[in-house]
Amino acid sequence: MDSNLDPWGSSQVKDYKKMREEFGIEPFDFNLSGNKMAIRNLIVGQRDFWRIKKAMDRKDKFAAMTGLMPSGEMHLGSKAIIEQMIYFQQKGAEAHIAVADLESYATRNIPLEKARAIAIENFLLNYIALGLKKCNFYFQSTSSRIQKFAFVLSKEVTFSEMKAIYGFDDSKRMLEINSPLIQASDILSPQIYGEAMPTIVPIGADQDPHLRVTRDISGRMNIIKTRKNEDGLTFSIGGSGDPEPFFQIIKKATAGLNIRIKKINTKYRTIEVEKYGEDLYDLETAISRMERGLNPNNTLAPSSLIMRLETGIRGGKMSKSVPDSTISLNEDPGEAEKKIRKALTGGRENVEEQKKLGGNPYICPVFELYLYHLSSEESDLKRVEDECKSGARLCGACKMEASDLMKALLVGLKEKRESSRHMVKEFLENE
Ligand code: SF4
Repeated sequence: MDSNLDPWGSSQVKDYKKMREEFGIEPFDFNLSGNKMAIRNLIVGQRDFWRIKKAMDRKDKFAAMTGLMPSGEMHLGSKAIIEQMIYFQQKGAEAHIAVADLESYATRNIPLEKARAIAIENFLLNYIALGLKKCNFYFQSTSSRIQKFAFVLSKEVTFSEMKAIYGFDDSKRMLEINSPLIQASDILSPQIYGEAMPTIVPIGADQDPHLRVTRDISGRMNIIKTRKNEDGLTFSIGGSGDPEPFFQIIKKATAGLNIRIKKINTKYRTIEVEKYGEDLYDLETAISRMERGLNPNNTLAPSSLIMRLETGIRGGKMSKSVPDSTISLNEDPGEAEKKIRKALTGGRENVEEQKKLGGNPYICPVFELYLYHLSSEESDLKRVEDECKSGARLCGACKMEASDLMKALLVGLKEKRESSRHMVKEFLENE
């Protein structure tokens, strides 16, 4: 099992560079104006994000997809994902949000009715309060098309692959084994029930296994498979049917972009083309759309943005399974203050040392609260960082300031939740 990447566990990722190398994740080096997490280097990796950037720059149609597991309160660690969804929605993405109530039933034994109430009260209301606009918000348990497509996907994955990725052993119940396939169905659904288009899935680093499974499945279900070679691309035609209609698609798409075909091998069902450079986006989009006419399960591999996991205030990953280390968005402000008072810090042994040597904000969960939630301006964040490092800021006062800011944030969210309640109906109109 990928020991550091457990979607259902509470362990923190210790080394993001190692994680990228181990799982073939690309570093994130895109300029995303107005994206606070990108500016603050809180995006630690990506898969095929170039495709989303291109779609955004060209104002092409694209989708943003996420899911929520309704098993408890929405905590600060989940806020970053929805902020990314809001960012992409503002940039023109068609937004889709799946309530993973089948997953919470499978992995946490939460009854579906209870999950529904949690999803609305603890998540949807906060999403609206944070700025999410009307989108495709649905429940896995009531979506027969999501369940049906998960069934179709199950023919693409073996139990040994699921074991390797998720660490399932022979005692796992079918319910749990099936759960990642429902999520793969969620992730591909904007394309399957819409059109082939770039899809961004913002995730915490621990969710990467789901993306890997889904991207693999997407590639397996496409009949035209694309592989980069030394100086161009090789297309191969999968399956055992007549390859000619698919050769025609490749010929038409490459001709439209003036890309030269170097070699056609009918025996091995392959076509090699010369360098593609900037044309790759247009080429794969054209091929995907044409293949869709012959293969309803064709999709572009979904892209991901991988976010650094927020540290719990008592260490480890901020997770609902560790309530003392977690602040929920519906938390009583007084309780949040108490938790922050008990938070771990990057401070020194005593005040004298702190004044002399300064603290270490880079290992401090309180500083992370400023980084992720409490400092809206870069200049303000820099002030906290510099004061900490120079010793001008002491942990007690720093925690008090963080508590006051957190209380204001929670009170503001509560007010917005109440004033947004009438909008819930609009989000649930298809339910
Ligand atoms: S001064 Fe603040 S940021 Fe610095 S180590 Fe202490 S609590 Fe953390």
